[in-house]
Amino acid sequence: MIVDQMKLTCYETHIHTPMCGHARGSLGDYAEVARRRNLKGIYVTDHCPMPESYEHQGRIARDRLSEYVEMVVQAGRDWAGRVDVVLGIESDWLPGMEPWLERLHRQADFQYVLGSIHCHLPDYRRLYLTDNALAFQMQYFTHLAQAAETGLFDALAHPDLVKDIHPDQWQVSRLLTHLKTCLDRIASTGVAMELNTGAEKKALAEWRPGVEILKLMNERGIPVVIGSDAHEPEQVAKHLPSALNMLKEIGFATTSYYRGRRRLDVPIADAIASLKQQAVASESMPLRSGPHPEQDRSG
Ligand SMILES: [Zn+2]
Ligand SMILES: [Zn+2]
Repeated sequence: MIVDQMKLTCYETHIHTPMCGHARGSLGDYAEVARRRNLKGIYVTDHCPMPESYEHQGRIARDRLSEYVEMVVQAGRDWAGRVDVVLGIESDWLPGMEPWLERLHRQADFQYVLGSIHCHLPDYRRLYLTDNALAFQMQYFTHLAQAAETGLFDALAHPDLVKDIHPDQWQVSRLLTHLKTCLDRIASTGVAMELNTGAEKKALAEWRPGVEILKLMNERGIPVVIGSDAHEPEQVAKHLPSALNMLKEIGFATTSYYRGRRRLDVPIADAIASLKQQAVASESMPLRSGPHPEQDRSG
């Protein structure tokens, strides 16, 4: 059964590669899962290199950025016509990093730049961690709004990641006024926010962000992208159907992805329908006869 790639609408927008040192599987393995799950493509968004004075473990080494870019471009060629393999990057932001990131983002033809504040990492903790959980959480959301206002990013990754630092002291209602102010600031930049369905080291039984924040985003018209944050191939778009249904229930009309750093919106109903083509395709596959099913599928 051939599923026409042109008719598909869903992308996996957030995956990692072994070049960050804590993900496994080749890009071919990721693309294969994307093909199997009927995605139109995948955005490769590995962790950016950092300036000299910051921790550089767990990310693309400073002298290997061109190798990363070439790997993604090559996978794009290999999978052309089957799965779009698109060059992106997940860029960490800390106050003052703007010149570094401006230069970095000019070094390749990135189609999508995902901004992250990794508040669990040593640099952020060293600079901002306090015993006062609420103050720490509020500081994080101030930073998130500042990150959006730099204009460096298309979307903000896992936007309530801070809840995992003091999970027992996480309650949206405690910082609601401040949160709304920060979300208003983000909304006025036009920067999207991610619904991150990754499970890695998750302290709370909800995605990032949870439903309350998703509702606040929707009320403000903040565009939403869905990403799995896959660090291994099997995680690609694993929760995409339930994420789309959740967004639909909350009232979102569209989900977004980026091409050439420009936002493209897909109606959620279309995205759900596109994934259902997958079911038709894979169920009918065993019914097909013929000696070369592999050739048939890729043709
Ligand atoms: Zn990672
Ligand atoms: Zn990530």
